[in-house]
Amino acid sequence: MKTGTTDRASGTQSVDGPTNAELYERAAKCIPGAVNSPVRAFRSVGGTPYFVQRGEGARVWDVEGRSYVDYVQSYGASILGHAHPQVVAAVESAARLGSTFGAPTEGEVVLAETLCGRVPGMEQVRLVSSGTEATMSAIRLARGFTGRDRIVKFEGNYHGHSDSLLAGAGSGVAEGSLSSSTAPDSAGVTRGAVADTTVLPYNSVPTLDETVAVVCVEPVAANMGLVAPLPGFLEGLRAECDRVGALLLFDEVITGFRIGAGGAAREFGIQPDLWCFGKVIGGGLPVGAFGGRADVMSHLSPQGDVYQAGTLSGNPLATAAGATVLSLLDAAAYDRLRHTAGDLAEGLADAFASAGVPARVPTAGPLVGIFFGSGEPPVDFAGAAASVALGRYPRFFHGMLERGIALAPGPYEVMFPSLAHGEAEVAETVAAAREVAAEMD
Ligand SMILES: *Cc1c(COP(=O)(O)O)cnc(C)c1O
Repeated sequence: MKTGTTDRASGTQSVDGPTNAELYERAAKCIPGAVNSPVRAFRSVGGTPYFVQRGEGARVWDVEGRSYVDYVQSYGASILGHAHPQVVAAVESAARLGSTFGAPTEGEVVLAETLCGRVPGMEQVRLVSSGTEATMSAIRLARGFTGRDRIVKFEGNYHGHSDSLLAGAGSGVAEGSLSSSTAPDSAGVTRGAVADTTVLPYNSVPTLDETVAVVCVEPVAANMGLVAPLPGFLEGLRAECDRVGALLLFDEVITGFRIGAGGAAREFGIQPDLWCFGKVIGGGLPVGAFGGRADVMSHLSPQGDVYQAGTLSGNPLATAAGATVLSLLDAAAYDRLRHTAGDLAEGLADAFASAGVPARVPTAGPLVGIFFGSGEPPVDFAGAAASVALGRYPRFFHGMLERGIALAPGPYEVMFPSLAHGEAEVAETVAAAREVAAEMD
């Protein structure tokens, strides 16, 4: 069996450095579960994680010098691929000027202008340091603006790890035992914290009432595998929110500037009241953002009475990286991303079909999902969970990893082909998938 390749030419193999196993053992002593975000652990696939030494373009190298075609790409934070020269240069020159001041900088204005310029209807935006902060703050704002308490979210959608949103959450949260309804997903989250959170099935338009402050939705769900909105779902949410005076929040932390130049809202032609961004807009550095109409955003302090703040918000290194990435995401870039995703999905689907492994490989723009099992692709969390329950992902994951292809170590994640992934990487991936699928029974 072919294993991941050792890159001697680059001279980066750390022959004397620690191995993956050694680092894992050290990490496990000083970091809970050896990781700083649970989804990085190999809990749901078995085994222990590789420790990345460096990345370049579509690839990462682990500390033992093994290289992988990387479809994790920091869960979508890297859309150009790793260590893009222009991003590296932008971060370097920003760092030389000082990395944080506690006073406003031009970089914040440039990134905010870029975001607002690309998203029709989003007049103002506030920068934060993570997607979690963006959604948490946007919800506080929605409650402050409407004077209402209730939030509605959809089962299997992930909106970060703030208390009120840890109910029916996807991604790493769903790998544990998922509570549907409205019990907290995590110990330490009080019943009170989720008492005003209503969790409903994705792709079904609910009837709302006037207690609802905001409806939060991933316009394309990418934390329960990949589930696109059915025709009418987002339109229905818009109409229902308008009917009862609730705000509609698109959590575009994954879809923003990935699905297309203006994110999912522009792609689907549906305007929410609030947007949340993260991942892509930080160019690999910690950034999140939430934005909306000026009359809503003006309720934020210091103008309004909804408090929100951050020592490192709008950090100069992060805004420099983010603005550089966005400047490179033109129409041709999106065409290329979609093309790569299409080829990848087609190749994987064919690999599974040839081996007689029932699987669906949906795409949504540049995103690719894998659902084992037969029939139509899932449209909600119940369908996604039924596919995951078949238990086929761990075998596929490890087979691919052994062949130098890194997928996310969780069955509810999607694949993030970047602009650095070309025909060669797709071909390598599909060839590996053919071998792995042939061994799956
Ligand atoms: C990743 C993610 C978040 C949380 O972002 P963090 O930067 O991890 O806090 C929120 N919403 C969605 C849709 C995400 O995919």
